[in-house]
Amino acid sequence: MSEIIKAPRGTRDILPAESWKWEYVINTAAEVMKDFGFAQIMLPMFEHTELFSRGVGETTDIVEKEMYTFTDRGDRSITLRPEATAGVMRAALENNLCAQGAFAKLWSWGAMFRYERPQKGRYRQFYQIDAECLGIENPEADVEIIDLSIELFRRLGLKNLEVVINSVGCENCRKIYRDKLYEYFSAHKSELCESCLARLERNPLRILDCKNPECGKIADGAPDIYDSLDDDCREHFEKVRAGLERLGFKYRIDKRLVRGLDYYTKTAYEILSGDLGAQNAVAGGGRYDNLANAVGSSVKIPGVGFACGLDRVVLVMEEQACSFGKIPEPEIYVVADDEESRKHAQILTHKLRNAGVHVECDISGRSFKNQIRNASGCKLACIVKDGKFEIRSKDDSGVGIVSKILEREREKFVDIKNVLAQKSTGFVDKALEILEHERDHVTNIKNVLEKKRAGDYSDGIVKLDNLDEAFDYLSANL
Ligand SMILES: [Zn+2]
Ligand SMILES: [Zn+2]
Repeated sequence: MSEIIKAPRGTRDILPAESWKWEYVINTAAEVMKDFGFAQIMLPMFEHTELFSRGVGETTDIVEKEMYTFTDRGDRSITLRPEATAGVMRAALENNLCAQGAFAKLWSWGAMFRYERPQKGRYRQFYQIDAECLGIENPEADVEIIDLSIELFRRLGLKNLEVVINSVGCENCRKIYRDKLYEYFSAHKSELCESCLARLERNPLRILDCKNPECGKIADGAPDIYDSLDDDCREHFEKVRAGLERLGFKYRIDKRLVRGLDYYTKTAYEILSGDLGAQNAVAGGGRYDNLANAVGSSVKIPGVGFACGLDRVVLVMEEQACSFGKIPEPEIYVVADDEESRKHAQILTHKLRNAGVHVECDISGRSFKNQIRNASGCKLACIVKDGKFEIRSKDDSGVGIVSKILEREREKFVDIKNVLAQKSTGFVDKALEILEHERDHVTNIKNVLEKKRAGDYSDGIVKLDNLDEAFDYLSANL
């Protein structure tokens, strides 16, 4: 007998028990994007390999070790996208979205693919929300992107977040900085890890974000990038900082923040969560003024953007007990027992769904008893029997009525307090009047609670004679 085929390592199924949470995050993101004027762009999940090797950079971990690359039947080298920005830039160039000085604010969400060691919150097929602002060199665009990502997390209710920013300079600044780093790290060769020794020759900047604590110690003493920034890059960074301060954001500057992609210029930033351990970035991004040229554009198209890992965001939201909105469950369950009643139930369900109501009705031929059990989670149950419709509400225990009376009563207490406080003429009469009134409420509550104890739910049951009446009642009482 053959074995059941399982999902490949590093992938997973987002099942209904979880997918509604994802839907909430994506819908919230769509709202934030709309408020910031970003339009959705939908891109292919695979591109020519060259787009990433040239865009992301030959010496990056992504291109060297992590890409899903294959030759298709037409003998082309194809890669499943490991990130979104290069694809967005490719689409903008191909479709002239930034021609003649135009700019484009685009967002997207979807699956990315990287061959990494799977761990908590990290998968080989993972999901990202991306926003990219193309065609604008001003630091205001950087500030807007950072503001956008912070606003997304604010609306999702994430706590303990930290914004970390840095400037990685332009190509010219980096050339100078690279030489300084090469000199510095060459003097510490014996203390560097194996990967960093390789990085030293090819891209010493990457040593700065090595996770190895020994390398980290050495990197702490490395030359400061700010000393290598030219006036333009320095001014840009100052303006981004001033913009963030103007909006009231707190941030930390981390001169070791270089991010793992070659295309970043000037601003680099991350949003860290205190609840993710070592894997703690929930979003990261920055400016990439050379990406367009790297992927073949003859004109310069500056850009700034961010990506947010959906898998991690959902994980942190769960850990922080954030709200994912309302669990999708039916508001009404239509229960029917015999064949004839099932037909009525089917029509009633159809009509209610037409009216935009979330209704469930048994389609699997369950017994009446089982249907009632399923209905118990709903606000309203409609029982169809002999052409009649009986509606039971979840509040039929009397709890709703009792709380309504108590609510009303609270006002009376306030009244009495006020009257007594005034001690004006006739205040005793007034107070007595109110107390007399209140006695009725107390009697009411007693009656309701007694009925409940006796198992008499007749107050909460509504009997209706035909389908139209049932429809009208149900639509009006949701
Ligand atoms: Zn520069
Ligand atoms: Zn290292």
